[in-house]
Amino acid sequence: MQSANRTCRGCSEEFAVNEKQMERLLASAAFAPELRVAEEEYEARLEACHTCPKFHGGTTCMLCGCLVPVIAHLKSKNCPYPGGGRWAVQHQA
Ligand code: SF4
Repeated sequence: MQSANRTCRGCSEEFAVNEKQMERLLASAAFAPELRVAEEEYEARLEACHTCPKFHGGTTCMLCGCLVPVIAHLKSKNCPYPGGGRWAVQHQA
């Protein structure tokens, strides 16, 4: 039987993603400027995550496993919170 206090490997300090790794991700073609939401929208998304019960460790959404400070930049991403999400998909004009 597993201990109730056991954490998954991905959630341990050893596997935490650091700023440098996030910067490298954000510099990739997958995060090109035309694929990103406006800065105000990004900040609003982060604010919604920071008050969400599914936000873990300052970086991770426990519903989708995504790195929130990274994926919240993308127009194509949405929040998986039940009932329609806490932030919406941005439609391209
Ligand atoms: S469920 Fe939505 S609001 Fe909550 S941490 Fe995940 S992406 Fe953020």
